[in-house]
This record gives sequence, structure tokens and C-alpha cells, in this order.
Amino acid sequence: MSTTKRDYYEVLQVQRNASADEIKKAYRKLAVQYHPDKNPGDREAEEKFKEVAESYEVLSDPQKRARYDRFGHQGFQNGGGAGFGGIDLEEALRTFMGNFGGGGGGIFETLFGMNQQAGPNRGDDLRYDLSITFEEAYRGTEKQLTFSRLQACSECHGSGAAPGSGLQVCDMCQGAGQVHASRGFLTFSQTCPKCQGRRQVPGVPCPSCHGDGRVHKRIETKVRIPQGVETGSQLRLQGEGEAGPMGGAAGDLYVFIKVKEHAFFERHGQEIYCEVPIPFVTATLGGELEVPTMSGPAKLKVPAGTQTGKVFRLKGQGFPDVHGRGHGDQHVRVVIETPTHLTPAQKLKLQEFAEACNEKVHPKVRSFFERTKEFLSSISSAG
Ligand SMILES: [Zn+2]
Ligand SMILES: [Zn+2]
Repeated sequence: MSTTKRDYYEVLQVQRNASADEIKKAYRKLAVQYHPDKNPGDREAEEKFKEVAESYEVLSDPQKRARYDRFGHQGFQNGGGAGFGGIDLEEALRTFMGNFGGGGGGIFETLFGMNQQAGPNRGDDLRYDLSITFEEAYRGTEKQLTFSRLQACSECHGSGAAPGSGLQVCDMCQGAGQVHASRGFLTFSQTCPKCQGRRQVPGVPCPSCHGDGRVHKRIETKVRIPQGVETGSQLRLQGEGEAGPMGGAAGDLYVFIKVKEHAFFERHGQEIYCEVPIPFVTATLGGELEVPTMSGPAKLKVPAGTQTGKVFRLKGQGFPDVHGRGHGDQHVRVVIETPTHLTPAQKLKLQEFAEACNEKVHPKVRSFFERTKEFLSSISSAG
């Protein structure tokens, strides 16, 4: 594998100020030239095909293109999104089909089948957005998912053939599973669009699914959510996506997790943060506090002379690692509460206390006063 990367504009043979349309045209021309279907077994063509796909992925996206123009390949090294440390053949083919295959019905759909290997098409992947509580994310949970997806038709068991009619040899490809299309001097082979490479088609299409082999069904399925997941975590349930047409393999179901906020805990990675108010006497004389943790109440020793904003660490009281590698810590920030609603007797005690104070009792107050004295006298003399 080569370590030096060619300039994306150079790869696509376009000027740096090329329009989106010019870039697309250039990509299309080169992608067709190097497409693996046209160059079977040619490693060099495959590398070129991947290179043009990668270049096009970046230059066809205005944001990525702007980043590339400013930072070059460096702009995609760290967390650059789609991982442009190079792309594999599957991604390159997806780029190609995403632009010129499927849906559009252009010439490329007839030149290249959606599926590279002969065989029934795979069903689509599905996405399910799941909201869970902070506690559920901490402990792990099981959730019921309810959604609708394309399932194998129960009338024809996914074959697409009406019961009793059976299958017959595909008349489009004569049972080869592939057809050939010519364009100019070139001949391409592709998966037969009628039988999807299965070589057979329903004798009479199944009346329930009209020959597709699939019908929409409401699904209820349980999913186990591991402890430690966070917002943005994805769970992949293999084969729980949509069934493929005419008996094709099912796609996958992706569950996207969103964790709701907690009333007083905050989470960053595996660390949990919270704020706890404490009476000023406890802060002054020291004492023991009861603080909440996700595993129940915990005792926290507060030393004498604790200042507001001091953060105490409760080891191992943070979130569990999603791969089971231990827990984070909990960080408790104490905030000293100034007493309010004092009775005359309480006020008197505090006044007595204040009178008994010397400079050692509030060293910060003292030193702040010393440090600002000079500054204050400088303004009063200037005025
Ligand atoms: Zn066919
Ligand atoms: Zn059916």
C-alpha cells in the first residue's frame, strides 16, 4: 500500500475551481473506466477505482471540500469523519451505486447491477431511535422495540411465487443469473434485474406480496441494552432489518441510544459529577455527609476548613465501562450554604463569634484586603 496520497483534484483530473457538475462528470468517467466489473482481477484498476471514489467523496461534499482546500489530506487524519485514511472496495462501490445506481434508472443501473455477486438482494438496514433513562444506562436494561418492517411473505415463504405455481427458469437471462449489456464497443455483465441473480422467477406472482416475497409487518422485539451505554451509542442487531426481496438476506437493525438527563447527576464519559450543599458549620468544623451515588447513599468525610467549590472524589462510583472494564469515579463538589432566616438569638451568637475572630480565622479575606489597599488608594488619590 502506498503511503503518499495523490491530490484529489489530480486524481479526478479537474481544476481546483471545478464546479460540482464538472467533478461529478469527471468521477463518473473514471469510475466507469476502472470499475471492477470491467476489469476483473485487475488490482491496479481496483486501486484506481477506490482512489477516485475517495476523491469524489471529499470533493462532492462542499464542507469536506472546503476543509480539504484549507488543510489538504491533513484535514482528514484525526476524527475527520468518514475515515479518509483510504476507503475499501465495498465503500467505493457504494459511492458509485449511491450516485449512479438504484432509483434513478439511468444507464448505469442497466450497466451494473446493485449487487456485485450473483444472488438475491439483501434487505435494507433500519434505524431505531431509543431513549433511555440515566439509571437504565447505568444498570443496563431490556427494552421492547415496536416498529414496522418488510418481512418474508408467509403465503409464499418469501419466494414470491403463488402457492402451487412454483418457480420457472428466468426468461430474461435464460437461467444464467446475469445478463450482458453493450454500450459502444464495451460489453458489461450484470446481475439479472428480473430474477436478481436467482436464475428463477415465480411462475405466477404470489397475490399477497405481488411476487416481491415480502410484506409489511408490525414487529415487537426485545433488545438487551448493556450497562454503560451513552448518547450516540449504536447497537447492531444482525438480520433484524428488512427482509431482502424474493428470499434475499435481511438487513440489520441499528438501535441509536439517547440517554435522558438526570435531575442532579451529570455524566462525562465514565465520570459522574454532582453538587452537594453543606452547612457552613460542617464545612468549618468538619463532619460527615451523606451523598447520593448511583449505587445508593455513600458517606463522605469533610475535613475541617473545607472551602466552597472543593471537589471530593468517590472512587469507583462512576459509570461502568460498556465493555465491562471497571467503573469511573464520582466527583462531588461541595457548595457552602450561608445561613438565612436567623432568629435574634442566633444572630447574637454569630456577632459574638465575629467579635472573637482574629486575622487567622479568615486569612483570605485578610490578604485580599491587604492586596487591594494599594490599588484603592491609587484611585482615590487620582480622583
Ligand atoms: Zn434472470
Ligand atoms: Zn408472497
